[in-house]
Amino acid sequence: MTPPITGFPAISIVDDGTASAAAANSAVATAPSGRGGHAKVVIVGSGPAGLTAAIYAARANLEPIVLAGYVPGGQLMITSDVENYPGFIDGVQGPELMDMFRKQAERFGARIMDVDVDKVDFSARPFRLWADGDAYTADSVIVATGASALWLGLDNETRLRGRGVSACATCDGFFFRGKKVAVVGGGDTALEEATFLTRFATEVVMLHRRDQFRGSKIMQARALANPKISVRWNREVIDVLGEEVVSGVRLRDTETGQEVVETTDGLFLAIGYRPNTEVFRDWLEVDEKGYLKVHDETLSKIDGVFVAGDVHDHRYRQAVTAAADGCKAAIDAERWLEAQGSSEPVAGAVAVATS
Ligand SMILES: Cc1cc2nc3c(=O)[nH]c(=O)nc-3n(C[C@H](O)[C@H](O)[C@H](O)COP(=O)(O)OP(=O)(O)OC[C@H]3O[C@@H](n4cnc5c(N)ncnc54)[C@H](O)[C@@H]3O)c2cc1C
Repeated sequence: MTPPITGFPAISIVDDGTASAAAANSAVATAPSGRGGHAKVVIVGSGPAGLTAAIYAARANLEPIVLAGYVPGGQLMITSDVENYPGFIDGVQGPELMDMFRKQAERFGARIMDVDVDKVDFSARPFRLWADGDAYTADSVIVATGASALWLGLDNETRLRGRGVSACATCDGFFFRGKKVAVVGGGDTALEEATFLTRFATEVVMLHRRDQFRGSKIMQARALANPKISVRWNREVIDVLGEEVVSGVRLRDTETGQEVVETTDGLFLAIGYRPNTEVFRDWLEVDEKGYLKVHDETLSKIDGVFVAGDVHDHRYRQAVTAAADGCKAAIDAERWLEAQGSSEPVAGAVAVATS
């Protein structure tokens, strides 16, 4: 996870004009900008789940529109070496992998727009979505908006992401064989990640702002019994140190205010995830943590709206599982459209405004 992170390649958005008014009955016309319009499948999100759904939907001739979001390419854009995605013997850079996903989807005709969906209306079909001032209608929708890891928000933490700073022990632990790492957090995730990291690291230091963990007793007992794990209580991270790679963290004692430097080769954030579900909450069911609920693999409570990837899956959180979910959602959408007997917009459906 050492090389610098590259940007996602630009795509061909022509200009920034607004979408044309809604077409007479239902479907929204594509604006001169190339944005807006109607599709049999609109996919929201362009991480492994969204782009795999796009590849499958495009190859099924569904001509999907992908509303790619504020981080086109998803979470793998903020990491470097990915060594566990099958097919890449020597590993692959996260952004490079997502570039390949994207080009593969575009090759089969997916229209991908780097816009964020800010509002949806799933009350009737065609479904309606708004992004960046443009309106879209869809016979079916696949929601693949992922979840965002929470970070401390420190400048050097951002600068050193993928170069020692990570939010995924399963993904990046392997890079820390024989090294010392620090884990920030005090819940079950932090305890689990710290325990997992002892497989590789010689020493794992847990950094926690309070004087006791929030995690379950059993996880605490397991972590605290591990001779490789030690805990620095009442410590908050105020800076991440290192030029090219992480070399340490500056800590402040939350009781005395005293600052100390802890040397470390890696810093794992385990302070939680925020599922990107805000715009769907009025329409779809969420669990107590805010993740979308699914039944029967990819189905939401609304017929024709499907869900894929980390936006519902907080158990596995891997690119390959998200991609598999995207595949399932596209197949489910295709079969559902087929079962409707028509993939054309329903005549007489409500007109769509462009705001
Ligand atoms: C630091 C780090 C390293 C990782 N390394 C690995 C690894 O080595 N191997 C591995 O298998 N996994 C790794 N993962 C996990 C992996 O990245 C995720 O499991 C995977 O990306 C989930 O895919 P997804 O498509 O469900 O969601 P995401 O990748 O999160 O993509 C979600 C997409 O939805 C978009 N979006 C969100 N809201 C909106 C909206 N309102 N409108 C439109 N679009 C929206 C986002 O912009 C993004 O494009 C890593 C994760 C992190 C954080």
